[in-house]
Amino acid sequence: MPARILDGTKIAQDIRGEVAAEVKTMAAAGVRPGLAVVLVGHNPASEIYVRGKVKACEEVGIYSEQLTPPETSNTAELLAVIEKLNLRDEIDGILVQLPLPPQVDSKKVLMAVDPGKDVDGFHPVNVGFLSTQRAGLVPCTPAGVIEILNRSRIPIAGQEAVVVGRSDIVGKPVAMLLLNANATVTVCHSKTRDLAEVCRRAEILIAAIGRPGMITRDFVKPGATVIDVGMNKITDTGEFQRLFADNPRREEAFRTRGSTLVGDVHPDVAMVAGALTPVPGGVGPLTIARLMFNTVKAARLRRARNLGQQ
Ligand code: NAP
Repeated sequence: MPARILDGTKIAQDIRGEVAAEVKTMAAAGVRPGLAVVLVGHNPASEIYVRGKVKACEEVGIYSEQLTPPETSNTAELLAVIEKLNLRDEIDGILVQLPLPPQVDSKKVLMAVDPGKDVDGFHPVNVGFLSTQRAGLVPCTPAGVIEILNRSRIPIAGQEAVVVGRSDIVGKPVAMLLLNANATVTVCHSKTRDLAEVCRRAEILIAAIGRPGMITRDFVKPGATVIDVGMNKITDTGEFQRLFADNPRREEAFRTRGSTLVGDVHPDVAMVAGALTPVPGGVGPLTIARLMFNTVKAARLRRARNLGQQ
């Protein structure tokens, strides 16, 4: 039986609806959460992502502001931008769109963001909160993975979970969230031996690799839940044929556009998995939904802290 397809678009809409309701409640108390997005230069992909984030803010009622320092900005200039945003009361979340130009020390800039406004959840203070299970801001894509599992009623506690990928922004935080939810977690990477064998132990398999269709059906235990975080644009016809040989709908779109978006999981995995997230329409939409969630959470946490200090 083909896998149940887990609808990330629908889950993301539900979360945005809940965030919009909370924003309304906060507005009644005279508070409007605000997000500042810092976009340096003119990277076309970054410009598209930022537009999506600003539009999502408008839809849920969050105040948003876009700052566009020039491509030639240096580290000191960006630190000054962040410092100002840290001090502004109407800004609850600060998002620095990556990548930054090569002359900028990205780590230094990200470290300068007030951890209470770090809606990406990348600051070491928030990483520490996550690993010690304290209230903080959790990275958006990993939190989205857990939302998909929870809202699809897929149990996590006691399950064997395997995460392929150990990046600071996806693999490690997903592994930590699964551990916090009482899964037994194995983290794999490019040096893991017998990767397919390790993956076949998984009842929940998370692919966060950045290699199109790398997880084939021989990596998957029959009935397992497979979450595909990968987002890879492919343009090569041979690669397309390997992944979508019998998919006329995709083929037509590929021919028209000259590219298509694929995950790290081969589409044939749908024949063995119990449940699977599609690409597009799986984890992707959750990332922005959780950014909205984090902005509202940051507003709530900061005000609670301010009250505590009075
Ligand atoms: P990354 O920083 O490049 O990390 C990739 C990880 O995969 C690394 O840990 C690497 O191992 C591991 N890896 C690479 N080749 C491997 C192999 N052959 N076998 C086993 N492990 C291998 O990537 P990322 O930022 O985590 O992103 C991963 C994917 O998720 C990408 O496709 C990205 O576009 C996508 N993504 C999607 C969203 C979303 O909103 N849906 C958000 C963020 C990222 P080493 O550590 O040993 O090098």
